[in-house]
Amino acid sequence: MSRRVDLRSDTVTQPTPAMREAMARAQVGDDGSGEDPTINELERTFAAFVGKEAAVFVPSGVMGNQIAVRVLTAPGDVIIAGRHQHVVSFEMGASARNSSVQFATLDDTSGAMRLNEILDVIDAEIDHQPHVGLVSVENTHMPSGGTPLDLDDLVALRHAVGELPIHLDGARLFNAVVATGTSAAAYCAPATTVMSCLSKGLCAPVGSLLAGSASMMARARVERKRLGGAMRQAGFLAAAGLVALETMIDRLADDHARARRLAEGFATAFPESNYDATSCRTNIVAFDHPRARDLVAQLGERGVVGGTIAPRRARFVTHAQVTDDDVDFVLEVLQRFRLG
Ligand SMILES: *Cc1c(COP(=O)(O)O)cnc(C)c1O
Repeated sequence: MSRRVDLRSDTVTQPTPAMREAMARAQVGDDGSGEDPTINELERTFAAFVGKEAAVFVPSGVMGNQIAVRVLTAPGDVIIAGRHQHVVSFEMGASARNSSVQFATLDDTSGAMRLNEILDVIDAEIDHQPHVGLVSVENTHMPSGGTPLDLDDLVALRHAVGELPIHLDGARLFNAVVATGTSAAAYCAPATTVMSCLSKGLCAPVGSLLAGSASMMARARVERKRLGGAMRQAGFLAAAGLVALETMIDRLADDHARARRLAEGFATAFPESNYDATSCRTNIVAFDHPRARDLVAQLGERGVVGGTIAPRRARFVTHAQVTDDDVDFVLEVLQRFRLG
C-alpha cells in the first residue's frame, strides 16, 4: 500500500491506549440528573484549568459555541467577530438559526481583530445600529494558520468594552497555551465564557467543554438540554477527556515543531504563495495559493492529504498521529512536486 499522511485536521486523531483503559474503568451515572461522577470531575478539572467557577461537558465545539451565544445574547443582537472565525463561517449559520442574532464581521486576516474597529461597532449604537450583545474571539485562530492571540490584546479588549460579554472560542486553546507559555487561566480571565475541544489535538474521541460563572453554566445546562445535548452515561467519554487534559497538553509542542518544518517545506515548494513559514506558531499550516484546490488534489494523489478552507487557501494540520518520519516523507514529496 502506498504511503498516506493525513494532514486534513487534528480531529482525525485516535484515542490513546490510556484513554481506552480509562473509558473501560469509568464510573458513570445519569448526567441528566448531574449524577455522572466522571463528567462532574471533568467539568471541575476544566473549570480549574481555565479559572472559571463552573463548566459544562458538551458533545461538540459547535454546541459549546452555540450554547454560549444562547446564554449571552438576545434575539436581534449583533455579535462582533472576525470574518473567518468558526462561529461565523464554519457552523452552517447556526447562530442565526438558533439564536436569531447577526454578526458584525471584522477583518481577522492576521488572527486578531483591531480594537478600534470593535469599538466603532459598539459606538455606532448611538447612530441607530443594532445592540451589540457579544464579542467573539478565537484562540488559536484557525484560518490565519493557528495563530495564538496576544494576551495583552485580550486584556485591552476587556478594559475597553467594560461589562460587554466576551466569548473565547478556544477550540485549540491549549495549542495557544503551549506555544506562548501564557496559562489557560490568564488567557481566559478577560473572557466571560470559554469553549475548548478535547477531540482535536488532545486526542479524546468526543467532547468539548464550556466554562464560565456558576449562574451562566446553570443556564448553559438548560440550553444544552434544549439543543438535545444532554448525554446520560457519557462519563465514558469524560474519562477519555480527563486523560486528555492530564496527559496530552504538553505533547502539543511536538505537533508545533513538526508543523513548522512542514511550513518551511511548503514555503519553499510554493514561493508564489508568499507564505511566511515563521507565521506558523502552532499546528496549522495555512497559505493562499491561486490553485489551492488543484494543489491539494495533486498532493493527495502523492499521499500528502490536506484540505482547502477557502477557494484559494490550503491547509495542512499536524497532530499526534503524524510522526517525524511522516514529516520527512512529506518534505521529500514537496521537493519533487510540480503542480500539473
Ligand atoms: C473545530 C472547531 C470548532 C468546533 O468543534 P467541533 O467539535 O468540530 O464541533 C469550533 N471552533 C474552532 C475554532 C474549531 O476549530
